[in-house]
Amino acid sequence: MFVNDILKRKGSAITSVTAGQPIAEALALMAQHRIGAVLVVDGAGGIAGILSERDLVRAMNKNGKAVFDRTVGDLMTSPVVTCTPKDPVGAIEGMMTAQRFRHVPVVEDGKIVGIVSIGDVVKTRIEEAEAEVDALRRYIAL
Ligand code: AMP
Repeated sequence: MFVNDILKRKGSAITSVTAGQPIAEALALMAQHRIGAVLVVDGAGGIAGILSERDLVRAMNKNGKAVFDRTVGDLMTSPVVTCTPKDPVGAIEGMMTAQRFRHVPVVEDGKIVGIVSIGDVVKTRIEEAEAEVDALRRYIAL
């Protein structure tokens, strides 16, 4: 399975913010869409960074309530590691594990075409494993 197979199922919708937006607006979007990260885009539609719940937790621990005086750009992570629709899901799983993040934006020909989360990856890997077990069971039963 490839990243493209995940996008076919979930679509290419991305919840994004800009670096100048207040943190409270990014938080509201995460809560509303039930997601753990928002992509930070620049004026040209490129990727400026990513802001995840981890960034917010760290900033709250460090700065307390003052975190709400910050903008997305103050707390986001940059640069962002991306993948392409042609990447195998197994490779993205390895990347997420090795680099300890759970979100990877998908970029094709310089354009953002989706975002893959650890939940999407785990779901796909379980389906792959189940299909393999089914095939082996059928083979053994022959
Ligand atoms: P996450 O596990 O995705 O919530 O993120 C953990 C940390 O990695 C946070 O500081 C994020 O901003 C950062 N992060 C998440 N995804 C990426 C990515 N694709 N590239 C670079 N940093 C990321």
